[in-house]
Amino acid sequence: MIIAEQKPMETIEEFIKDYKKVLFLGCAGCVTVCLAGGEKETDLLATSLRMKRELEGNPLETVTYTATRQCDPEYVDGIANYVEDVDCVVSLACGVGVQFVAEKYRNKIVFPALNTKFAGGTVEHGVWEERCGLCGDCILHKTGGICPIIRCSKSILNGPCGGSQDGVCEISKDVPCAWHLIVEHMKELGRLDMLMEVQPPKDWSTSRDGGPRKVVREDVKIDE
Ligand code: SF4
Ligand code: SF4
Repeated sequence: MIIAEQKPMETIEEFIKDYKKVLFLGCAGCVTVCLAGGEKETDLLATSLRMKRELEGNPLETVTYTATRQCDPEYVDGIANYVEDVDCVVSLACGVGVQFVAEKYRNKIVFPALNTKFAGGTVEHGVWEERCGLCGDCILHKTGGICPIIRCSKSILNGPCGGSQDGVCEISKDVPCAWHLIVEHMKELGRLDMLMEVQPPKDWSTSRDGGPRKVVREDVKIDE
């Protein structure tokens, strides 16, 4: 899933300082799971900013709603009533959701309440780790299911750099050496031989380096 974290309250406060009525728009997708932009965080943010503005003598009217997903036109279309009625929108979705809302409601400014960080997962409650760099041509079948692009600090694709010590990456004692993990796992699988194969250079044209990407599934498209 996409992992995000909330921008500092002061930043969001600054965004909306000239507006009187604001829609705080949460997202029930990824950002709910990583506790950044779900219903609870949306209500909390709106309430905190409303109280702060009240104390400052500059009252703020807030509307809150949490869309099922902001990265899906079906759910973005469904919030028209809420958007019409406010001066601006604070979106607690990832950058994709913010863009979908801004694209649909062109007469309202949409502010991002989150910083979108990476594609990752929950490793323990309250800890999320980056696991995929979205390269567009997954090679996990060659590396025991451990991504060297993201989990090796130097994104080395052909084995360790030689800088690790006791299984720890030379950049920090908190970062396991991805290639140490790969070798250990391939050993467990009895497939160390796979690491001896010479790998051709990776084709990066499928990654972000090739410009904005698109996935098209003709079989599920609906003809107009
Ligand atoms: S190889 Fe590419 S697609 Fe696969 S996990 Fe790594 S970055 Fe993601
Ligand atoms: S020590 Fe391991 S994880 Fe760190 S840069 Fe070298 S190969 Fe990559």
